[in-house]
Amino acid sequence: MGRYSFKNPKARRSFILGILALVLIAGLAMGAVLLPRACGSSKATSPSGQGTGDVGEQAYGVAIHTALVKKGLPGRPGKARQVKYIVIHETANTAAGADAKSHADFLCSGGEGTTSWHYTVDQDEIYHHIPDDEVAYHASTAEGNQYGIGVELCVNSDGNFEKTFDNAAKLTAKLLRAHGLEISAVRQHADFTDKNCPMTIRDAGRWQEFLTRVQSYLDQAE
Ligand SMILES: [Zn+2]
Repeated sequence: MGRYSFKNPKARRSFILGILALVLIAGLAMGAVLLPRACGSSKATSPSGQGTGDVGEQAYGVAIHTALVKKGLPGRPGKARQVKYIVIHETANTAAGADAKSHADFLCSGGEGTTSWHYTVDQDEIYHHIPDDEVAYHASTAEGNQYGIGVELCVNSDGNFEKTFDNAAKLTAKLLRAHGLEISAVRQHADFTDKNCPMTIRDAGRWQEFLTRVQSYLDQAE
C-alpha cells in the first residue's frame, strides 16, 4: 500500500477533493501571473531613452505604483516631449471607490479613449500611467498636452481629500525636482482652458495654499 491509503472511503474522497482544490488554486494563481495585462507593470520605458519615465517608487514617503498604459492605446501615442509644466486636475468623480487604482485600471483598459494623464493621487497612494516625457491628453490645449505632466487628484466621497491634497503636493514637489522646474511651472487645468478644474481647490480658494504646500516639500530633503 502506498503512503496515502484510507480504509474509510469518505476520508479517501475528501483527500481527493483536497488535492483537486489545491490543483485548482495553483492553476488560478498561475493564470493570474501569466494572463496578459492591459497595464505594463514593468519600469517605464521612455522614447527619449533618458529614463525620465521612472521617477522612483515613492514621493516623500507616498508610494508611487507604476501601471503604464500600453503604448498604442489612444491615450498613449508614445510621443516624446519636453516637460515644462505640472498641470493639476481633479477627477470630478465623487463615486465611492473612485480612487487612484480604479482610475489606473480604467485608463489601462482604454476606458478613457483619447483622454489620458500621467498620475492619479488619492489619500493613500499614487499611480503612474504615462511616462513623464510622453504626451498625454488632459489639458484641453496643445500647449498643455505637449508640455504638461497631468496630475489628477481623486475626489471620491469615501476618500480623505486633505490627505489627497497633501500627497499631491508631495508628488508635485518631487516632479519639479526631477525635471528641474520652478514652482511657477505648477499650473491649474484652468490656466489652459475655460474649465473649473481643479474644482474643489478652486472653489475653496485653496490654490495658493497648494503652492505653499508644494514649496514646503521642496524646501525639505525628500
Ligand atoms: Zn482637469
